[in-house]
Amino acid sequence: MISRWLVPALLASILITGCSVSASPTPQSEPTQVSLPLVESAGSAAPAATDTSTLQESSPTEVSTPQIPATQASTAAIQCSSPANLTSPLTEGPYFMSGSPERTSLLEADTPGTRLTLTGYVLTVDCQPVANALLEFWQADANGVYDNSGYTLRGHQFTNDAGQYYLETVIPGIYTGRTEHIHVKVQAPGGPVLTTQLFFPNVAENQADRIFDPSLVLPLVPVGDGQAAEYNFIIALQ
Ligand code: FE
Repeated sequence: MISRWLVPALLASILITGCSVSASPTPQSEPTQVSLPLVESAGSAAPAATDTSTLQESSPTEVSTPQIPATQASTAAIQCSSPANLTSPLTEGPYFMSGSPERTSLLEADTPGTRLTLTGYVLTVDCQPVANALLEFWQADANGVYDNSGYTLRGHQFTNDAGQYYLETVIPGIYTGRTEHIHVKVQAPGGPVLTTQLFFPNVAENQADRIFDPSLVLPLVPVGDGQAAEYNFIIALQ
């Protein structure tokens, strides 16, 4: 089965949603929910030639290289009560880029900011783990700036056989009109795409952010000189 993100670059360039490239004096506009049927189902038309995404070029059965370090995979019991509520969708924002590298760490040698380790499961509403689920993360850096010419602080990965994901990154900075947030897409193999955002607790800007959703706040705990959180995504399979 072939599926992929389909986000025309032109569309991204004209969307006005809850994101900004950098600190801007322009107040946040009313968020526009972008309806993007990003998954190309089997048998649908070929993607546009301009789509350079390599994401999910392979079938899910061929994507069997979870990169979660064996020592990092959580052994904690799954915190989920069936039937669970689907994770709330939120606007994509204008700065998603297809074709991000597959990796579980977005950190580079010179990445500034507070380290954040994010772990958890991708689950169904019946609390069943979803193996080989795709997770795509993208975010501003610690100064509130997106890399829109490269893939800094952008990456995708697949859950392991236990439905677990693992991400190393930094806590994003604040820019005008937005509170701290990490963008994410989650997709079961062949399933619909959940597009949403993750937030942080005790951030003053949360209250004024019109996109903020308290159900998407990460339960941060201090770990070493950084922070960590476990967060499970509940997604639909079809
Ligand atoms: Fe954003």
